[in-house]
Amino acid sequence: MTTPDLQSRLPAVGTTIFTLMSALANQHGAVNLGQGFPDFDCDPRLVDAVAAAMRAGHNQYPFMTGIQPLREAIAAKIAALYGHSYDVNSEITVTAGATQGIITAILCAVHPGDEVIVIDPCYDSYQPSIVLAGGVPVPVSMRLGDDGYSVPWHDVAAAVTPRTRMIVVNTPHNPTGTILRRADLDALAAIVADRPILVLSDEVYEHMVYDGQEHASVSRHPVLAERAFVVSSFGKTYHTTGWKIGYVAAPKALSAEFRKVHQYNVFSVNTPMQHGIAAYMADPAPYLELPAFYQRKRDLFRDALAGTRFTLLPADGTYFQCVRYDAISDLPEAEFAQWLTSEVKVAAIPVSAFYSRPTESGIVRFCFAKKDETLKLALARLAKI
Ligand code: PMP
Ligand code: GLN
Repeated sequence: MTTPDLQSRLPAVGTTIFTLMSALANQHGAVNLGQGFPDFDCDPRLVDAVAAAMRAGHNQYPFMTGIQPLREAIAAKIAALYGHSYDVNSEITVTAGATQGIITAILCAVHPGDEVIVIDPCYDSYQPSIVLAGGVPVPVSMRLGDDGYSVPWHDVAAAVTPRTRMIVVNTPHNPTGTILRRADLDALAAIVADRPILVLSDEVYEHMVYDGQEHASVSRHPVLAERAFVVSSFGKTYHTTGWKIGYVAAPKALSAEFRKVHQYNVFSVNTPMQHGIAAYMADPAPYLELPAFYQRKRDLFRDALAGTRFTLLPADGTYFQCVRYDAISDLPEAEFAQWLTSEVKVAAIPVSAFYSRPTESGIVRFCFAKKDETLKLALARLAKI
């Protein structure tokens, strides 16, 4: 008997850095500031709303694109916050988390040989999704200066070829914590305006923008919105990363193609949670209060880190804080993160893991979506280095 030779579609891919660092943190009893998830629970009212939906018998397949009340709540939120009216029936699709929204958008739009520009460092699922679609990832590196990371739009423009099918952006940005501003969106719009290039905008941290700044959603920008898949995730917004529910907003023609793939890779998404979230969304306070909630944690974390040997990078958005460690060690990032986890007992994520080309900047990422006591325990350990 011969076993068929499975020629990997993703030969360069191993276990994700988040899984590896969480396992290492558990092994060493470290405070886990690596993988991005809250260590506190979601609002009990949200759990009650989901339980009520189950008791009310919402336990069978929902409508393929998502239940009507949830699509209505999503469309109303986008219209209120970003001023763009997506059609509830034809332009909003509920997904099994942002990850499924991202791979589905890529699979429906990217054809074999198409090039997709990604901006490194970037979230780890983008490139494997592009490769699975038969596309070619074209990485453009962010610029790293004294004032942190920024997108070099000239380099993005220079990377465009007649084969460019899509540009993937992420704001607020994981792992760097930077945000795109209106001028960035204008620069992106100038690149794609007269070309058949789509935009995939990962906005899962849309409600984590600090210091009174505005989230520059691609849906707010007319030139970009007409060619964009905009992705978000309730996992981030409602402290429920394990629920894996998100959505994709896109113009009708793009949504129609998106749904052709969606209906055959998940068909539909968890019914009672959709009902629970739809009911909970009637009150906008939980997401409107999120910037203040996380800004307080960011400031607590930054203020104490400022007294350590780490150097802080700006953190305008997300629940991540990047730091330089050159005053502490000259180890490569992955080794430094392992050392920090096993010896200092605080887990972090090496930023090098988000680059497609080997890139060492001497920077690691901490997640501050943690109880104050968790942050204080980690800070006490980091202060001893
Ligand atoms: N995009 C980014 C930038 C992320 O950080 C994450 C992860 N948390 C995701 C997408 C995936 O979101 P989800 O858990 O909803 O699939
Ligand atoms: N988005 C989370 C992070 O950046 C991790 C998600 C995952 O583990 N795949 O840490």
